[in-house]
Amino acid sequence: MEIKITRPQGTEDVTPKQIYKWHTVERIARETAESFGFHETRIPTFENTNLFLRSVGETTDVVQKEMYTVTAKETQFTLRPEGTAGTIRSMLQNGLLNDALPQKVFYILSCFRHERPQKGRLREFHQFGVEMAGSQGPASDAEIISLAKTILDRAGLQNIALNINSIGCPNCRPKYHATLKSFLSGRIGEMCSTCQTRFDRNPLRVLDCKEKHCQELVADAPSMLDLLCDDCKAHFAQLQSYLDAAHIPYQIDPRIVRGLDYYTKTVFELITKTENGNLTVCGGGRYDNLVEQLGGPSLHAVGFGMGIERVLMLLDSEGVVIPKPTLYDVFVTYMGAHQVEAFSLVQKLRDAGLKADMDHTGRSLKAQFKYANKMGATLTATLGDEEIASGVVKVKNMATKEEQTIALDNIADGIRNMLASSN
Ligand code: ATP
Ligand code: MG
Repeated sequence: MEIKITRPQGTEDVTPKQIYKWHTVERIARETAESFGFHETRIPTFENTNLFLRSVGETTDVVQKEMYTVTAKETQFTLRPEGTAGTIRSMLQNGLLNDALPQKVFYILSCFRHERPQKGRLREFHQFGVEMAGSQGPASDAEIISLAKTILDRAGLQNIALNINSIGCPNCRPKYHATLKSFLSGRIGEMCSTCQTRFDRNPLRVLDCKEKHCQELVADAPSMLDLLCDDCKAHFAQLQSYLDAAHIPYQIDPRIVRGLDYYTKTVFELITKTENGNLTVCGGGRYDNLVEQLGGPSLHAVGFGMGIERVLMLLDSEGVVIPKPTLYDVFVTYMGAHQVEAFSLVQKLRDAGLKADMDHTGRSLKAQFKYANKMGATLTATLGDEEIASGVVKVKNMATKEEQTIALDNIADGIRNMLASSN
């Protein structure tokens, strides 16, 4: 067979063979976020392009190179490259920020970025993200870091390190911009063309450039941490006390700036070391001006985005086994003449909340057993002439081969007992 049209480069299919891994990671993320007081929210897949220009920032890689934008009826729309801008927009538009504060939300959504596809880097990927709006103390920063870390711990990842930094605020950052610019000014000629344009408008972005040579150029750049104003300095110090209090180990990495412009003060990454360098599983931080920038009140906020594909990739590479759920508790097998009775039995079992199924393709009894086995059914329940005549079902445990004859009247309970003893 030749497939005429294949999926776009940088996208992935999740087939029924893998979906249980997604369900497990999503369930852990959801339950953990709920236990931290966050509520789920959903937003549209596309937004007005201006939303991202204003928030993510015009000099970022995301806006300069990676957005999928279409013009429809003279309006420009963009497939969301991240979840924060849309979520804050939605909070504002739905009046959530007039309610009791802070508002704590989480989401699981797809993001679209036109990046060069490579391992761990897709054009459509998924994020679990949280936003907490209306809270300014460093305890909130520590809380979301703790949430991200707890999710990764509960998923079973062990080789995750936390790096933190502060990139200051509009009071102290201009001084850093000036310092950084004078450091970079002698090296402009050597920078990549994108960084040359960044130099004037947003020199901080040069620190985030993925080009190897640009990274070498900034290796000994001055650190923002030396120039923080008193407020930012205190915030960063207190964040560390909270992390210490929660026994969350961290390292300070003055190189982290994150790829999006809206961050202020705290930025952090949860990373793992691979043979090709560090892989970021989760990135986030504080964004104290974004709500106002999008037309809302002056409210401070923090959040993070966690790449679900990257979590799954690391679970795989760390050899963490995610238990595969059984497809069928019971597969009803029957002799040809009893298809209707079998159908009725399957219905009865499903009504009782069991995962039950039967063959509809006219397989022989032997082939039905073979199929049930292949699908990993825990039990089979067989209806033949004798069983029908005496009002019973022959139930067999596929692993232990134990067999029981159970009265049809009592079949759901009987099957439940057998399932319970097979665990
Ligand atoms: P990176 O430095 O890896 O480019 P980023 O700074 O662009 O990351 P964010 O925008 O903060 O990342 O996104 C948060 C998380 O989403 C990342 O830590 C990562 O786990 C995931 N992510 C980002 N881009 C991709 C991608 N193209 N494919 C898969 N996952 C991604
Ligand atoms: Mg990126």
